[in-house]
Amino acid sequence: MSDVVTMEKIVSLCKRRGFIFPSSEIYGGVGSTYDYGHYGVLLKTNVKSEWWRAMLQDRDDVVALDSAIIQNPKVWEASGHLAGFTDPLVDCRFCKKRFRADHLDQLPCGQKPSKHPGETSDCDLTDARDFNLMFETTVGPVKDEGATVYLRPETAQGIFINFKNVLQFSRRKPPFGIAQIGKSFRNEITPGNFVFRTREFEQMEMEFFVPPDDAPRWFAHWLAERERWYVELGIRPDHLRLRAHEQDELSHYSSATSDVEYLFPIGWSELEGIADRGDFDLSRHAEHAKEKLEYVDTATRERYVPHVIEPAAGADRATLAFLVDAYDEEQVEGETRTLLRLHPKLAPVKVAVMPLVKKDGQPELARELYADLRRRMQAEYDEGGSIGKRYRRQDEIGTPWGVTVDHQTLEDRTVTLRDRDTLEQVRIAIDELGDELERRLRADWRSPKLAVA
Ligand code: ATP
Repeated sequence: MSDVVTMEKIVSLCKRRGFIFPSSEIYGGVGSTYDYGHYGVLLKTNVKSEWWRAMLQDRDDVVALDSAIIQNPKVWEASGHLAGFTDPLVDCRFCKKRFRADHLDQLPCGQKPSKHPGETSDCDLTDARDFNLMFETTVGPVKDEGATVYLRPETAQGIFINFKNVLQFSRRKPPFGIAQIGKSFRNEITPGNFVFRTREFEQMEMEFFVPPDDAPRWFAHWLAERERWYVELGIRPDHLRLRAHEQDELSHYSSATSDVEYLFPIGWSELEGIADRGDFDLSRHAEHAKEKLEYVDTATRERYVPHVIEPAAGADRATLAFLVDAYDEEQVEGETRTLLRLHPKLAPVKVAVMPLVKKDGQPELARELYADLRRRMQAEYDEGGSIGKRYRRQDEIGTPWGVTVDHQTLEDRTVTLRDRDTLEQVRIAIDELGDELERRLRADWRSPKLAVA
């Protein structure tokens, strides 16, 4: 069976069910900027929580950080972003559109979208010139010299400039890591493909500092760890791959970089980059800030600048990959059932509690049950519309379990527990429900789409 998912279906479901909306819609929108609605917030929060869990709870050699978005502009001078964080830009003098020069073969022409820029006789492209992707703003009331600052284009530099603080105050020694989640901003020339590439997005980055000789071993460790993270959260392994950068793709300071790629409907695309950055960042900041950024072993007096292994992921891109991987359609009793087969840990809502009818004491009992369950997990109460319609709604937001209170419940305090993926319904005592749901939530899970792929 082929995969039914398309980017259009994901965009439409996200809008219909309140995951993600185009931003400033009532004013006609603003290019490639999105707002997350209730279920989108819950889903992306779960993605980020699972990342934190993998970094902070499942291991004891990584600490957390939350650095500022606006930093001293010298940070970007030292990091090389001021001089080199550019994309090649071309303008078309005829249609007045701008394009990324290295993406022309993937972009639609401004006049004739069936062609690429430069392919029609009217196209009149300028030579490519470098365009810096950092957003500029000013601090303070006067826009004079020295007031220019930048919105950070990555969270990583906030980590490097705090290396010394963390080393001192959390009493760490290599190997150890510093992890951060936060917004980054890039004035992308051609954003697109929904939340895959936007100008404002969230990154989940971790810098792992190691003794120089150990870098290759830790690089291999993080490749395996990061791939495992996606698979354990339900991404089908045949839709995930690691791709090592060719020599000519590598940044000048990186001896090895691999991307975790996902097979989106638009083709294999980067979810996360994992790089061996050597001592580039710490050495550059040491030089520019005139600070010693190194590790000194108090016992052996050995001193060295640690090398860095960096897994850098995007929270929005990961969320999109989980949505795409979960999207499914199936025929049930002559009707198409659309559902998100999300890993229960990622599902925005874990359980929906519904009275079969809105009378005979069923809503009261269902509300009681809902109040009880929501102390343990994200739950929702729903009494509006036919039961079939309510199930369809929960299927589309990916709720793994539905609990229905019916006339029998009032007699024997049992409810029906419905499974989103198998549609199996079992009768279970109210007293056992919470524990059973928690057991299911903790259990290993694999995508039911794997069986049919
Ligand atoms: P790309 O080649 O797609 O532009 P990149 O290699 O420049 O990405 P990095 O600088 O390595 O990306 O950033 C790490 C991660 O941050 C990416 O793997 C991606 O998940 C996310 N990311 C980067 N740019 C964007 C963007 N414009 N919109 C959404 N996510 C992004």
